[in-house]
Amino acid sequence: MVNYKDLGLVNTREMFAKAVDGGYAIPAFNFNNMEQLQAIIKACAETKSPVILQVSSGARKYANQTLLRYMAEGAVEYAKELGWEHPQICLHLDHGDTFELCKSCVDFGFSSVMIDGSSLPYEENIALTRKVVEYAHQFDVTVEAELGVLAGVEDDVVAEESHYTKPEEVIDFATRTGCDSLAISIGTSHGAYKFKPEQCTRDPQTGKLVPPPLAFDVLEEIEKKLPGFPIVLHGSSSVPQEYVDIINSHGGNLPDAVGIPEDQLRKAAKSAVCKINIDSDSRLAFTAAVRKVLAEKPGEFDPRKYCGPARDEMTKLYKHKIIEVLGSDGKAE
Ligand SMILES: [Zn+2]
Repeated sequence: MVNYKDLGLVNTREMFAKAVDGGYAIPAFNFNNMEQLQAIIKACAETKSPVILQVSSGARKYANQTLLRYMAEGAVEYAKELGWEHPQICLHLDHGDTFELCKSCVDFGFSSVMIDGSSLPYEENIALTRKVVEYAHQFDVTVEAELGVLAGVEDDVVAEESHYTKPEEVIDFATRTGCDSLAISIGTSHGAYKFKPEQCTRDPQTGKLVPPPLAFDVLEEIEKKLPGFPIVLHGSSSVPQEYVDIINSHGGNLPDAVGIPEDQLRKAAKSAVCKINIDSDSRLAFTAAVRKVLAEKPGEFDPRKYCGPARDEMTKLYKHKIIEVLGSDGKAE
């Protein structure tokens, strides 16, 4: 049993309370390799932004859970080395699907877990979430739950169609489960293809897809039912077209990749939404940088020569999200 507090990590309670009051959102960035973690910590240290480091079950399989735990512990020390006096770093399980997985993360030093019972019937989602909350809260680990279904593909999470969260269910769900935050479905979706072309309109000038707006009316209804309760948005990458263009012009093939426009996320961050999950955008930044180097310098075979630029590009992206979209800069001096 490892307690996250001994690793210098924090849970989400205080960061969310401040974010809801302050009208900004905490970045939740997924990581599964060293360059990505370095980029996240550097961006957060330079902007003094609290951060949630997310590990999906796919990342756990890819990178090994022991290694990831020590990387998160190392991240706290690295942050201090970079001159960030009081780093606020949360280590969070993204999309836990069983009680056993959540328990193992709690026992292993995670400071927050998500139990995603959103694909289960309502009462089963409540029972499973309640069980995880009862276990996690003994160790002051916070729990994110989910109501409603997001479309898209994220590691093991696949859903064909989305179902918006029903505002009439949220009070009952939050009360009976005791969860600390709630992921809702209002039109965001996982992956780099968030909408089918037929769901979008096309910009006549650029030919690029323009996605449909998020369901802010549903979000407002939920906020009215649960005033001040921390709301989470998954699948909130914007799929920057400059990365898609670099990838496509350097041997890649991502036709019609489309994400959530940043002005919509900016609006959400000012509301009760206090955690915004971003994963695909850093994958795109990484891939664009690697493809560019390898295409321009075919003789290059030192991974540092393309992973280094990829890391720099991700740092730039994370700082942009923190300062220009989420507004979390300067919130963790
Ligand atoms: Zn998700």
